[in-house]
Amino acid sequence: MEKVCPICNGLSMINLQCEKCKGTMKDMGRVQEYTDSYACQLEINDAVDYCMHLFKCIQCNSIKRIKISKINL
Ligand SMILES: [Zn+2]
Ligand SMILES: [Zn+2]
Repeated sequence: MEKVCPICNGLSMINLQCEKCKGTMKDMGRVQEYTDSYACQLEINDAVDYCMHLFKCIQCNSIKRIKISKINL
């Protein structure tokens, strides 16, 4: 059975609220695409069961990393 991330595959959406300003946090994609900045390499390589996504607040620009559990297709 193949495990896929529901966000990457457009199966579901996440509506996240910013902890600081209660603004809307936008999905910026997988953290893997931002490895040049601060993403932890080890964590990504071990991510068999989850997909790490980066969310950014459109109001105060605060950034949050969220683990998305993969689902079986
Ligand atoms: Zn994903
Ligand atoms: Zn915010």
